Amino acid sequence: MLQPYLHYFLHFIAIGAIAWLYDKKNWKRNWVILLATMLVDLDHLFANPIFDPKRCGIGYHPLHSELAIITYFLGVIFTKNRLLRLIFIGLIFHMFTDFIDCLWTFSKCRECYFSSEVFEWAQQLSF
Ligand SMILES: [Zn+2]
Repeated sequence: MLQPYLHYFLHFIAIGAIAWLYDKKNWKRNWVILLATMLVDLDHLFANPIFDPKRCGIGYHPLHSELAIITYFLGVIFTKNRLLRLIFIGLIFHMFTDFIDCLWTFSKCRECYFSSEVFEWAQQLSF
């Protein structure tokens, strides 16, 4: 019951705090920019089915892939442009939010974990 509330709280409300911390003078504009990073979920349209409550999107969708996440991190570290950096921060926070959702799903559904990319990554990391 609580899971979708936390998920949407992080996706819509918590980013308001990030917007404020990033630049208190322009927090409203920043909040809108962070809300726009939600467009990264358009990659779900390539999935079949588009929505599957048992699927962990991290590692599955192209803009939620390992390579995409590494790119977002490198963007935050190396981008000097403040607007672009905010977008990369928004994308990383989006991945964090989706990952929390995956962990919550895994806690209720073991086969969801074993069929996820996150499980594959954990296997690779532990050799
Ligand atoms: Zn997402």
